[in-house]
Amino acid sequence: MAAPKTIPPFHPISAPDYLPHDQLRELQSRRLIHMVKRAYEKVELYRNRMNKMGVTPDDIQSIDDIVKLPFTMKVDLRDTYPYGMFASPLKDIVRLHASSGTTGKPIVVAYTKEDLEVWDEVVARSLVGYGVTSQDIVQNAYGYGLFTGGLGLHGGASALGCTVVPISGGNTERQIMIMRDFNVTCCSATPSYFVHIIDKAHRMGINMRDLPIKFGVFGAEPWSEEVRHYIEEEAGIRAFNIYGLSEILGPGVGAECCFQDGMHIFEDHFFPEIIDPATGEPLPDGTEGELVLSTLSKEAMPMLRYRTRDITTIDVEQCPCGRTIRRIRPIRRRSDDMLIVRGVNVFPSQIETGILRVEGASPHFQIVLEKGADGLDRIEVKVEATDAAVDDTVRSVEQFQQKIQQSISQIIGLSVRVTLVQPYTLIRSEGKVNRVVDNRNK
Ligand code: AMP
Ligand code: ZN
Repeated sequence: MAAPKTIPPFHPISAPDYLPHDQLRELQSRRLIHMVKRAYEKVELYRNRMNKMGVTPDDIQSIDDIVKLPFTMKVDLRDTYPYGMFASPLKDIVRLHASSGTTGKPIVVAYTKEDLEVWDEVVARSLVGYGVTSQDIVQNAYGYGLFTGGLGLHGGASALGCTVVPISGGNTERQIMIMRDFNVTCCSATPSYFVHIIDKAHRMGINMRDLPIKFGVFGAEPWSEEVRHYIEEEAGIRAFNIYGLSEILGPGVGAECCFQDGMHIFEDHFFPEIIDPATGEPLPDGTEGELVLSTLSKEAMPMLRYRTRDITTIDVEQCPCGRTIRRIRPIRRRSDDMLIVRGVNVFPSQIETGILRVEGASPHFQIVLEKGADGLDRIEVKVEATDAAVDDTVRSVEQFQQKIQQSISQIIGLSVRVTLVQPYTLIRSEGKVNRVVDNRNK
């Protein structure tokens, strides 16, 4: 049975979510001043960069001064690989994680004991917002290891007192058996992997709606409202979004509350700004742009104005749940996952939305880009057929393909070719999914 749509009881760990505005600003200012001093003293890259801009820690007197600070980018973490951004000596660092970049070396991130405590706290605050309690049994199907998802969720769920099943990703049949036998009430995973779990359960003859699971905690990759609807209907749960990135922490930088309408950023620890990705100019709340995050309390690896590449908007309105910390809109795209097809900007999430607007369509798809003989880009979308949507006649297949084609074209403004493929033939991911095959330069 899905979790009810009511405001869960207050839990003291979430007190900072409700700080009056002035107190929150005061706390942010205090933490920023301290953090910048440390970063300047301990990290050469920050010191050099601030000196170059003519900014010293003394110029930072309140949170409003944050715009005086230089940006940090992923390339800075690569250039200082592996330990160059650390502000604490290795003896104080108790954990390292790494995030695989698209090319070459991973980026390395570090945590002191206190950093891990903050991580546990913000993940616990995320879970409390959904309505998860110490009574819940949490099956954590995020990958354990260098990826921050597994251990991040694990720490927070344990801190809240949940019963954690540290199953990690993969071995889907066993996931379903355990979900059923252990009476699991909450599952955390990437949304694409959970869709796969639903699929597998169908094939095993298990209706997930009959199981006691009621909460889903999904993040680490973009997912659309249509996928949320699919998951909630098929599994009979409420599906909640959690956001984070290794450079700042991992999961738990922000999370939805019971209203499922934007993710609250835990801004007593991570300060959000929106900038114009082209010029770097700060933009007011309510405007879409690139999310920039600064850590306010991180010790091992402070981040000054980290450019996330994630595109979103900070909400101007306060959430009806009563939290004073601001919300960001769900992240559907990154400034670097944009495909340029015949000069038109296309995001994989738009294609997902187009597919799932067609009733009975499967959420399993792949985008293949090719160069035609005429030198023009062609975009093909392979979508798995479902029994619900087509019978065995050629006509019904063609009609269904056309329906999806039209639905996608309406959103992206380009013609696409949709090909239905046999069910269960497209690659499934156990972690973050990659749906794009670009053969244009081959
Ligand atoms: P990593 O540090 O490797 O876990 O990757 C972090 C990136 O994953 C973020 O910058 C986002 O692009 C993406 N991400 C994480 N959580 C979400 C989410 N809830 N919705 C959309 N994208 C997400
Ligand atoms: Zn809220």
